[in-house]
Amino acid sequence: MQLLCPVCDAAGLELTTNSHEIAYFGEIMETMTKCQKCGYRHVDVMVLGEKEPSRYTFKAEGTEDLNVRVVRSGKSTVEIKELGVKITPGPANEGYISNVEGVLTRIEDIVFMQKDSERKRALLEKIKKAKEGKFAFNLKITDPSGNSAILSDRAKKEGI
Ligand SMILES: [Zn+2]
Repeated sequence: MQLLCPVCDAAGLELTTNSHEIAYFGEIMETMTKCQKCGYRHVDVMVLGEKEPSRYTFKAEGTEDLNVRVVRSGKSTVEIKELGVKITPGPANEGYISNVEGVLTRIEDIVFMQKDSERKRALLEKIKKAKEGKFAFNLKITDPSGNSAILSDRAKKEGI
């Protein structure tokens, strides 16, 4: 199968895959597509085996909760109500296997790129506290493709 680049339409998009076995969860395939012509690159994750559209909610209350594993696909919406943050799926959205702290770091990176404002400084301060386990928050990941998960006994999973 010839894959076409979504940016420059060139044929010959290069696809590489990497498989990860996650304890108590299963196998996750990481896929990376790369265009040799324009340099377009996209990473996503796919859960192998059974999956269903789902929403995971997890309340992070301390430093230990920051280590909870998170699988986020590019088709999911990530929300942290307490921070007023919502990341919706889009062409630039990448999937990843990380943990709660890694999700906060990614949000922090996005906030850093915004222009300076009162709101930005307040948000960065809250994220800093959250990364120190001093600010409790609810992480919610909604994924119609069923390729996302929060891997904790305390995470709530519901069908959508
Ligand atoms: Zn291209």
